[in-house]
Amino acid sequence: MLIGVPAETVPGETRVAATPRSVARLVALGHEVLVETGAGQRASFPDEHYVDAGARVGPAQDAWAADLVVKVEAPLVEEVPLLRRGAVLATQLSPAQRPHLLADLAERGVTALAMDAVPRISRAQSLDVLSSMTNLGGYRAVVEAAHEYGSVFTGQVTAAGSVPPARVFVIGAGVAGLAAIGTAASLGAVVRAFDVRPETAEQVESMGGQFVRIALPEGAGGADGYAREMDADLQARAMEVYARECAEADIVITTALIPGRPAPRLVTAQTVSAMRPGSVVVDMAARNGGNCELTEPGQVVTTPGGVKVVGYTDLPARLPIQASQLYGTNVANLVALLTPGKDGELVLDLEDEVQRAMTVTHDGEVLWPPPPVSVS
Ligand code: NAD
Repeated sequence: MLIGVPAETVPGETRVAATPRSVARLVALGHEVLVETGAGQRASFPDEHYVDAGARVGPAQDAWAADLVVKVEAPLVEEVPLLRRGAVLATQLSPAQRPHLLADLAERGVTALAMDAVPRISRAQSLDVLSSMTNLGGYRAVVEAAHEYGSVFTGQVTAAGSVPPARVFVIGAGVAGLAAIGTAASLGAVVRAFDVRPETAEQVESMGGQFVRIALPEGAGGADGYAREMDADLQARAMEVYARECAEADIVITTALIPGRPAPRLVTAQTVSAMRPGSVVVDMAARNGGNCELTEPGQVVTTPGGVKVVGYTDLPARLPIQASQLYGTNVANLVALLTPGKDGELVLDLEDEVQRAMTVTHDGEVLWPPPPVSVS
């Protein structure tokens, strides 16, 4: 089967869905691979390295005309007709937000596999681009904070005087938050963190952070491990804690999300106004509406009080080499799952709940949303 790797066309997208390393794995599974000329350039993968790994390099229309097309970003409306009828497309699709695109893909007779609809269960972890990308995003959030912050993270004692370590407060200790805690702690900061799921306390501590405790009722984290919205009383208590912790912090990194809902608003303008000049807020929920009231997606806003609020929505794409390596590995793991005979033949098994959950269009029909997946 021919696998096509078109270049990404969304402005600012630096990643590529296959790297020379992942191409070698796809070839070993019996597939041919055609990479669009220059597709890996922004991620520092030259065409020659793809050729050395066993791929061909060619024009965009050949990559789009493959049997399986792999991408990072959803195709643009004008790119859908480049896919051939009966082709398979594997990419991030945000299926809940893009009903029109799903309808177009179904009408085109494309089988679309949403890389961002992989169920969050242990068996599917090797395909989980949401985890691999947010993990990098958490790291990069700290790097962006360090860039905007006018002081050092680690405490220093020098002949010119001593500097205390930076104080970092992280809200939300999921995949992104834990990566941010580990990165900030490794730079020498004192890190405190809170999550509505009290079971994250141990993970926060294992990454070098201190867990901020608020008495929470049973079940604030749902049975599936994801957060639920808090009741009004608890929300009010939590908001007091956020305000107090933010006022004490030099850097605040917010990562709180609730699946299927807009990001909860946790850092108000008033809370930011109580932060010291020079402090930095990095809002990793900017794409979903933001955890901070002052966030502007894609921008760095400096408040009248001298606090910088960073709303970048492209944190993984700011690490294009590593992000493409991990994304390419996730894609190669998917292709391995779909090539059980290791013979270059793609077999889609809609009885398998992982493959079913990702399959958003097939045989001319939209199959989103999928039936619920059993938690394991
Ligand atoms: P997420 O991106 O949905 O949310 C980020 C964090 O924000 C979560 O930890 C959530 O509890 C927290 N949060 C929500 N509202 C908050 C509030 N008001 N205040 C503070 N924190 C708040 O979460 P995620 O990183 O995708 O992970 C969520 C769960 O899924 C975890 O249990 C994780 O271990 C699990 N998970 C499992 C797999 C897998 O098995 N394949 C992969 C990834 C994540």
